[in-house]
Amino acid sequence: MSQKLSSGEVCKNFVKKVLTNYNLPYISITPVFSICPKHGYIAGEHKYCPICEHEYEAKRLIKENSEC
Ligand SMILES: [Zn+2]
Repeated sequence: MSQKLSSGEVCKNFVKKVLTNYNLPYISITPVFSICPKHGYIAGEHKYCPICEHEYEAKRLIKENSEC
């Protein structure tokens, strides 16, 4: 029996070893993004959804103007 391993075999064994040893729940490769339950995917990191904030601000202004 030959003990020689092809590079493909080594790679396959390595991936198997890594997956077995490190029980990773997920691998993050994508840049930072946020998800709003109302507006969905928003590129970039936001503490609050900019669209929701904008809508809230608009509603606030309408309310202020109607109160007189
Ligand atoms: Zn939103």
